[in-house]
Amino acid sequence: MNRVLTEKIRIGISECNFGAQVRWNHVGWDRVAKLGRVQMDYAWIPVCPEVLSGLGVPRPPMKLVVGSGDDFWQGKARMKNRQGRDVSNEMRAGASTAQEIIMRSGAEAFAFMEGSPSCGVYRTTLKDKRLGRPPGVFGSLLLKKDLFLIPVLDLDSPWKWWDWSRRLHAFAWLKRLEVNGKQELFEAWHILKFVCQEADERAARNLGTQLATAPRKLTKEFVADWKMQVFFLLRRPSTLKRIHATMVKHYAHYRKTFGLKAQEVSAPSLLVSKHEFVEELGKMERKAFEKEYFFAGRPIFYVPDSR
Ligand code: SF4
Repeated sequence: MNRVLTEKIRIGISECNFGAQVRWNHVGWDRVAKLGRVQMDYAWIPVCPEVLSGLGVPRPPMKLVVGSGDDFWQGKARMKNRQGRDVSNEMRAGASTAQEIIMRSGAEAFAFMEGSPSCGVYRTTLKDKRLGRPPGVFGSLLLKKDLFLIPVLDLDSPWKWWDWSRRLHAFAWLKRLEVNGKQELFEAWHILKFVCQEADERAARNLGTQLATAPRKLTKEFVADWKMQVFFLLRRPSTLKRIHATMVKHYAHYRKTFGLKAQEVSAPSLLVSKHEFVEELGKMERKAFEKEYFFAGRPIFYVPDSR
């Protein structure tokens, strides 16, 4: 089974993290630039729901009163700016337009700015580590879509980005995969199961059992539901400890298969800096790809179609 993505994954992103100074106080950051060359492997779709609401830059900061972004869409909460002006109508239009752009672009993922009452998904405030009342107004719309959600601040951390990107690749690959029979789904599961096991061993075992005990002729509903469960696991971030344990296992198998010389790739070690750790993972991946060895820690690669 082909484990390569040839078409770029499209990622929506909170625009203030794509080099645009669109935050209320005319500030912005370029988190994507920090990824270096790898940023070119993706197509980025920057949107700012507050700018699309027509409120301009700079503008007074806003907050949700009283309720969450979900309440907002049910008419039970409002968006107000610091001067007390109700900007709910503007925000409704801005967030809907942002969502429309993201969905029209064919984005499969969104890198959201956590802590914003608009783009936040699990927090709507940055104050005192409080959560606010998540999700934000735009975050609420993002959660209702079948998107792979990445907290944009994690782009600053090499190991967190490594973890998000490998699961995003797996997510996009499974989403694009047309399943024509049980055997095909089995093969897909064999490819993805290690990343799923890393997220939740029990849930992954359950998925394997569901597939094994399903009738030979799978219904469309079964495939869709089974895929949804895999997507759910792929969306869950791992930990450095779990990644390390998985990689040690793969490294041992890799060495056994190829009898690698010690200097070619080092054993994954948490004693080195996180940066070096990710570099070693990258080397292992590249070697595995060159040798057509199945490297379960990052099962899906992006290789641009050169035709
Ligand atoms: S609305 Fe979203 S994209 Fe716009 S400035 Fe706020 S966090 Fe950034």
